[in-house]
Amino acid sequence: MDIKNIKGVGEKTLKYLNLLGIYSVKDAIFFFPRCYEDRRNIKPIYELCDGDIASIIAEVSIIYPSKRANNGMYINRIVFKNETGYIVGVWFNQPYIKNNFKVGQKVFLYGKISRKMGEVQIIDPQYERDIDDLKLGINPIYPSNKYLSQKVIKKIINECLKYIDKVIIDILPESLRKSLGLYDIKSAILNIHNPKDFNILSESIKRIKFEELLVLQLGIFMAKKRFENMENAYSIPVSKEMKEYKDSLPFQLTNAQSKTIREILIDMKKSKPMNRLVQGDVGSGKTIVAITALFNCAMNGYQGALMAPTEILAQQHFLSLESLLKKWQIKIALLCGSTSKKQKDEILEKIKQGEIDIVVGTHALIQENVEFKNLALVVTDEQHRFGVRQRGELINKGHNPHVLVMTATPIPRTLALFMYGDMDISIINELPAGRQKVDTYFVRPSMRDKVYDFVKKEIRNGRQAYIVCPLVEESEKLEAESAVETSKKLQEMYFKEFKIGLLHGKMNSSDKDLVMQKFKNKEIDILVSTTVIEVGINVPNATIIVIENAERFGLAQLHQLRGRVGRGSYKSYCILISEAKTDDAKERMNIMTKTSDGFIIAEKDMELRGTGEFFGTRQHGLPELKLADPIKDIELLKQTRDVAKKIIENNLIYNKDYENLVKEVDNKFNDKFNDITFN
Ligand code: ADP
Ligand code: MG
Repeated sequence: MDIKNIKGVGEKTLKYLNLLGIYSVKDAIFFFPRCYEDRRNIKPIYELCDGDIASIIAEVSIIYPSKRANNGMYINRIVFKNETGYIVGVWFNQPYIKNNFKVGQKVFLYGKISRKMGEVQIIDPQYERDIDDLKLGINPIYPSNKYLSQKVIKKIINECLKYIDKVIIDILPESLRKSLGLYDIKSAILNIHNPKDFNILSESIKRIKFEELLVLQLGIFMAKKRFENMENAYSIPVSKEMKEYKDSLPFQLTNAQSKTIREILIDMKKSKPMNRLVQGDVGSGKTIVAITALFNCAMNGYQGALMAPTEILAQQHFLSLESLLKKWQIKIALLCGSTSKKQKDEILEKIKQGEIDIVVGTHALIQENVEFKNLALVVTDEQHRFGVRQRGELINKGHNPHVLVMTATPIPRTLALFMYGDMDISIINELPAGRQKVDTYFVRPSMRDKVYDFVKKEIRNGRQAYIVCPLVEESEKLEAESAVETSKKLQEMYFKEFKIGLLHGKMNSSDKDLVMQKFKNKEIDILVSTTVIEVGINVPNATIIVIENAERFGLAQLHQLRGRVGRGSYKSYCILISEAKTDDAKERMNIMTKTSDGFIIAEKDMELRGTGEFFGTRQHGLPELKLADPIKDIELLKQTRDVAKKIIENNLIYNKDYENLVKEVDNKFNDKFNDITFN
């Protein structure tokens, strides 16, 4: 059934439906209400209390002309009556409303009750004039736009629901459904659109969520299973120089680092490709873990690649690799935006010939041009910055390389299990010895002079500072301009005797490198920067970060920025300058001052923002969820995990009853399958 043939859907309406994401009858059937009005309880007017949400059937008695209040707002009042009393409908700024009613007409009203000086009012009520057609139940309210009224949407959806048998099949086998006490899909959908009571509604929603989460978990497990069957990775033993290498490091590894490295080395030895996520809070020392894996790869004669999200970070990694691996004559190349064409071609040729052991660069550069001789290990730093697909592309060039993914974005454990269900996870849950907690303060802009005095004090003590300029969402250009201006102003007005450097996204990469180099070498005291320093940048001598307009940043981002300091043994400070007015902004500032635990912050972040950001396909390549929320529905998630596991273990995916479920998994994951297998 084509949606064009549904009663009430003309060309125009179809266009408006498209705007809501509805293109087919199936889309309409799965277009669920955003909330419900309980219109079941019709109460006598004399029983209504202030604040009640009430449904009333009454007759139009008096229609007053519009009035204008002192502030210019229109107020319209209409008196309704029935055998239980009088009630006044009050509408604001809708002067036309009076034309919608006729004296003597019987109407239905739904809204919030207010009792004022003996008068019973219903404020801005919803109303229905077609009393005969009225269904007094739980009334669904759909997400809508200004073109389509609730009435029209409702009508179209109910029309589409007539074809539900033709459009929807139940992908859950009956036996499974029955054993879990779940509704069949058709009842669930019909109930969600027209629930009889809230119990039935919640059971119906649960059924849909269950299905969504089950498909997802099955997809992940099936990917993992495929992956486990792969046996053609390079098996890379632990290099005999490993001990010497470890002894040569400038510090002793933490227990968490050692454990992670051990896990990685065991993985690399297998002929099944490693697929490991290393998660560690900012400053926990993930780089050395990556370097060690790359060292082991190179010493065995294989090539490795290290991808970073920004050029500045790639450059930094390149220098770290050079200095730590100098001794072993490992050949390392940096692919950078500013590398000349000639140089680049030369490097690419060398990589192809196997004359380069480790290549470092941004993901774009490495993916697009590079051909390897024997790529055996791919390390991705700050993985949350990469689309799953991009990673897949690079990997496809190699010979099933081992994959190591590093992330500082602290993903709550439960969520990590879910998102990376196909990966093994190592967690670095320990900071190197001697680190001190970063003290965080939230101050108003009026305190700025004091803050700058404090910055001066730190610099005079030999330390360095970051000053982060406001985030300008709309344009990197505007952001860069504001950074330029800020740095000028700071130099002239506050920090005359200090050296200020500037870093922003519009600078070319060699200029960026130069500034970073100078900052590292202490030729710059204060680095005024946009968020380009957000991830990965490591200058342990910097002990203070001042974040302007801190309210514009999300929690995760603030935590990352704060992670730029406290990377050495010096006491460090993070100062959030903000006018924070909204509750949400104040809450973020408070959380930042109270905790430095990335996991708690991530959990709060998700509470405040919802999981949407994580679960848009954009972020991770997994199918989108309509109703389920892996955080709020964690219990259901666990249940689906168990069910999915059983289905795989018992080989039920080849069972006829499970055919439709498996098909759905294939559909949902379609070509993402390969990427996810390898991410
Ligand atoms: P992140 O996990 O944020 O990527 P890095 O790998 O950049 O952290 O490490 C942060 C800083 O800590 C670097 O200066 C690094 O040299 C240092 N570091 C890493 N491991 C240790 C350790 N075991 N002991 C002391 N310092 C360490
Ligand atoms: Mg890092």
